[in-house]
Amino acid sequence: MHDSSASPKATNHLNIVPSPPVSFQRVLATTLVLSSPAIVVLFLMVLSGMLPWLAGLGAGLLIFSGLSYILYSHFQHIEDLKLFITALRHVKGHDRLPLPPAGAGSILFPEINPSLLRMAQERQQYRRELELAIEGNEAILKSLPDPLLMLGSKRRIVRANPAAEELFGSQIYGRELSGILRNPDLLEAVNEMDAQPGANPRMVRFTIYGNVEYSFEARVVRLSETTWDGIRILISLTDQTASKRVEQMRGDFIANASHELKTPLASLTGFIETLKGPARDDEDARERFLDIMQDQAERMSHLVGDLLSLSQIELLEHTKPTSATLLDGVVQNISDGLHTQLEAKNMAISIQLDSMVPVEGEAEELRQVFQNLMENAVKYGREGTTVTVKSKLYGEGSHGMRRLGRPSLAISVTDQGDGIPREHIPRLTERFYRVDPARSRELGGTGLGLAIVKHILNRHRGVMTIDSEVGRGSTFTVYLPQANMVKGAQSELF
Ligand code: ADP
Repeated sequence: MHDSSASPKATNHLNIVPSPPVSFQRVLATTLVLSSPAIVVLFLMVLSGMLPWLAGLGAGLLIFSGLSYILYSHFQHIEDLKLFITALRHVKGHDRLPLPPAGAGSILFPEINPSLLRMAQERQQYRRELELAIEGNEAILKSLPDPLLMLGSKRRIVRANPAAEELFGSQIYGRELSGILRNPDLLEAVNEMDAQPGANPRMVRFTIYGNVEYSFEARVVRLSETTWDGIRILISLTDQTASKRVEQMRGDFIANASHELKTPLASLTGFIETLKGPARDDEDARERFLDIMQDQAERMSHLVGDLLSLSQIELLEHTKPTSATLLDGVVQNISDGLHTQLEAKNMAISIQLDSMVPVEGEAEELRQVFQNLMENAVKYGREGTTVTVKSKLYGEGSHGMRRLGRPSLAISVTDQGDGIPREHIPRLTERFYRVDPARSRELGGTGLGLAIVKHILNRHRGVMTIDSEVGRGSTFTVYLPQANMVKGAQSELF
């Protein structure tokens, strides 16, 4: 790294303050000492008559004053050099260098100023490189997403990166590690590593309990040398909360899915055994049992179908849909398909899709969304009531546009059912979550319908809101982005 301002030709130096006056006594005493041999010789020459006393006095005065002048300027130069060196000590990498002293004193060592200046420039360049290296390291440390703690002796926290400050607060400096992390395995690992400079890093997994539970993997590194600021041990923490939660959810999901399949399977096996044994010749029982067996088989088939849909949607969840779909035909088709269920409960569906525009999305996936919502509305709606499907457009600048941040179409499905108690609403889209599990099973529900809806909407950058009043009914509203269209051409403002 070379900077032109550090070259000997650089002129933008910093002038230093004038040096203090040289002490008169010091000049006098030194002149006396240095001139004494010559004065003594002159004195002896005058005494022996070799030199007239007037000439001897004149020569003596000349030697004394000449010498004191040279010494004075020399001392002055040394004072200037002292100030120059002090000023140099305070120069930072980007400061201008102070000017070396000039003046008569430098005639005794004319080469000292250029040497001093060169040394100062080299020192400044070295300092600048160090500062740049430190700034670079600081920036790397700050940008590390994982918390990093740097410990000195007695497990005291010397430094930490912003991620660690965010996790433990900014008051951690100087504190002992156990003041913020009490995990015995971690503390023991740190103690052991402290005694073995340069030992291989150690990994420790632990959990921080509090309002929110965090799981971490700590990597403890013992430096082979203590750094200039006393750091001996580094602890980097990797947040494993999310991956542990995913692991947990996967486990729960498999347990739930197997449980859901086991129940109808056990019931089928039971009926088969009964039909082969005690009910072998019972015509009535066989009819009844076969109906139940058919129900159970259908339930299993629904469940397997929903599980397959869910896994397929999850695979696609991170790819944006490419087509545009008009939903009125889709909704009408679903309504037609629900004909039998509607008739059985003496219900009707009122479709009021006045404002419609194409939305971004795959027709088949969006069909699944409204199939699930409309089927639920019929399933959980009271006999003899009507399910209403309405649409609303949110154009540029409308209040409702804020939900997706772009023009959207909202389609709501409203039923007149028993409604859903408030506390259940946030969890309805979880897999296998049911308000009333027995009722859902009795109605042929798998507990996966709304989870499928949520994943499809995630993929379509859409959202769903649920409004419900116990005893009156529920409204599920789906917001989907409008497909690319001429700005404002087809949207109404609400
Ligand atoms: P299910 O197959 O059980 O209907 P869903 O995922 O579709 O599963 O719904 C989850 C739960 O949400 C249901 O078990 C039910 O308790 C509740 N739910 C869904 N839709 C409605 C609705 N329209 N009215 C009342 N409760 C509903």
